[in-house]
Formats: sequence, C-alpha cells, structure tokens
Amino acid sequence: MSSTALSYAGAENTHFLEACTLCSKPLGHNSDIYMYRGNNPFCSQECRQEQIEIDEAREKTWRVSKKSKKSDTSNKTNLQTGTLLVA
Ligand SMILES: [Zn+2]
Repeated sequence: MSSTALSYAGAENTHFLEACTLCSKPLGHNSDIYMYRGNNPFCSQECRQEQIEIDEAREKTWRVSKKSKKSDTSNKTNLQTGTLLVA
C-alpha cells in the first residue's frame, strides 16, 4: 500500500520533466533535455526556440496593452490624495 503511494509521489515530482513542453514527446533520462526559464523541458533546440518565439510574441502583446494602462497611474494618485484627505 505505502509503496504505491511512494511511487505515485515520485512520478508526480518528476512529472514536469517527462515530456517536451511544446510537442509532448516523452523525455528519457538518457536523451538530451533543453531547459528554458527554469522549469520547461524541451526535446530539442528547435522546440525550445519555438517556445521562445511564442513567449516573445506574447511579451510584445503585453507591452502594447501596458501602453493603454496609463489610467492606472492616475488612479493611484487619486487614491493617495484620498488617503491624505482622510488623514
Ligand atoms: Zn519537442
């Protein structure tokens, strides 16, 4: 009984290293694993490069949406003014 629980915990522990993040190809202990951003394993440099490009495209989108967040800063100023008024 306890051995089943132990092996299950072990499998869960290494789960994130079992397959390529991009193409889900199983990663063996003897095969090359390409890590990216700490905890994303890939089966090849090609897969990792594709993930990097996906992330870069995502970050560009974030940068664009950040530009329209200018109202956030003015909201903060209003909050500080409000706190001053209360004090
Ligand atoms: Zn892959």
